[in-house]
Amino acid sequence: MAIEDTHNRPLLDLRISVTDRCNMRCRYCMPREHFDRNHRYLPKEDILSFEEIVCVVKALIPQGLRKVRLTGGEPLLRRDLHELIHQIRSCSPELDIAITTNGLLLKKHLNQLHQAGLSRVTVSLDSLDEKIFQSMGDTKAHPSIVLDAIDAAQNIGLPVKINTVVKKGVNDQHVVSMVEAFGPRNIPVRFIEFMDVGTTNDWNLENVVSADTMRSSLARHFGPLRPRQPIHKSDVANVYTTKEGWSIGFIESITNPFCGDCTRARLSANGSIYTCLFSNKGQDVRGILRMGGTPGDISQAIQSIWMNRTDRYSERRTEQTKRLKVEMSYIGG
Ligand code: SAM
Ligand code: SF4
Ligand code: SF4
Repeated sequence: MAIEDTHNRPLLDLRISVTDRCNMRCRYCMPREHFDRNHRYLPKEDILSFEEIVCVVKALIPQGLRKVRLTGGEPLLRRDLHELIHQIRSCSPELDIAITTNGLLLKKHLNQLHQAGLSRVTVSLDSLDEKIFQSMGDTKAHPSIVLDAIDAAQNIGLPVKINTVVKKGVNDQHVVSMVEAFGPRNIPVRFIEFMDVGTTNDWNLENVVSADTMRSSLARHFGPLRPRQPIHKSDVANVYTTKEGWSIGFIESITNPFCGDCTRARLSANGSIYTCLFSNKGQDVRGILRMGGTPGDISQAIQSIWMNRTDRYSERRTEQTKRLKVEMSYIGG
């Protein structure tokens, strides 16, 4: 039986942050001046073990959990991640198990992840242009590493999507080339409006390119875009297709918020449940796990957290921009 919050939204998706560390320093997520060597990452002993994470997943499957997404930080920095996927897959053959990764370590781990039961992968890639890729990610890595990993994933039959954060004056002139590169390969590109997550990324509305503006540029090049009916009401992206049938998604958290259909909970790497990406406070479940709690105990705790949920941050953004928010690399994007 699905648990519903105060706005009748069921808990269907769980995003699990498996680490708060990352091998990139995207300016919009972990700017280097804040995430430098003085930054205090979570101590190892605070981070949930695979068994503890699996206990949370097990607790939520009978409540209607449909999908888990492994994220972070960079999830592939967590050693033996395929083991976690294998353990989650053993809980349910039907569960949709996805990962969001920057792709730098993907090729190396791909076969193990696939064999362990991963359903699909979302690769974040902001530009094909070396200079823009390196400056947005504040990295010396070359985008060809990510492209090779995308090829490899497609070759073994793993469905791939691309996430591209669009920032005004940085990569907004390249939305057409992203679709030209991936459309013919049937890889959907999802453009994400630059969001005001956390407190360190210097977010400003002036740097946001609205999905409407992106659609206009794309339509000038590809012709009219046709909106596609959502497969699930809770899908985060609004999907359109070009006349060639290429799929383009838009995650319009700023200009067209989708809180009304938000069915996602987040589990931070140190075992707190967050009911909104923009929460300033999580609710600890690690304590219950470490006191020998069973999936039944966890299920009860999360039920009461979810049933009290009122979050609608994106819809109320203007009233709340000044409040303290947790960083996305910690809570899981
Ligand atoms: N490191 C992995 C990656 O980059 O794919 C997973 C974690 S990352 C926090 C998850 C997603 O959040 C990425 O697609 C990233 O582009 C997106 N993201 C991070 N900060 C963002 C921001 N300020 N606005 C919009 N999207 C953001
Ligand atoms: Fe790392 Fe992903 Fe954040 Fe970039 S978006 S800094 S790759 S966690
Ligand atoms: Fe869900 Fe919070 Fe995002 Fe609204 S702002 S869609 S409630 S995560």
